Amino acid sequence: MIKELDMVHLNLRIITKYEELDKKKRFMINKSHGGSENYNYVYQYIREEILTIYNNPQYVANVLVEYLYGIKNAKNKTTLWNSFGDVLVANLKKNLGDSILCPDCNVRFEVTKQRQAKCLSCQENTKKEKAKARKVKFKNKKMTK
Ligand SMILES: [Zn+2]
Repeated sequence: MIKELDMVHLNLRIITKYEELDKKKRFMINKSHGGSENYNYVYQYIREEILTIYNNPQYVANVLVEYLYGIKNAKNKTTLWNSFGDVLVANLKKNLGDSILCPDCNVRFEVTKQRQAKCLSCQENTKKEKAKARKVKFKNKKMTK
């Protein structure tokens, strides 16, 4: 278990390292031969450098996302995406994995039952309407007899 204070400290170290490498990046990317042939290498290097602080790509990516998207609201997130893109994509997939859009009200909801296609409130409404329709049908049948 990491204590809360230690966690703050750890997160700060991850963020500081990221900022430092993000600034250094342009000196590391080799453009002298017209292209940037060591592009992938540099981002791989940044990833590994940050992971020396805490070797958990999932955790590190989460800290950086929270920092860059939340606190700093940074415009440029190239380094994050190029260094931890695989983790970020996996996270997105995981977060959206168990939820779908309700076709009736367009609200994203967690699927809690098998073959659930609508959110719970829309499902209830559909049930009520069906029950009502059945009643009406039954009534009409009785009247024609
Ligand atoms: Zn709905």
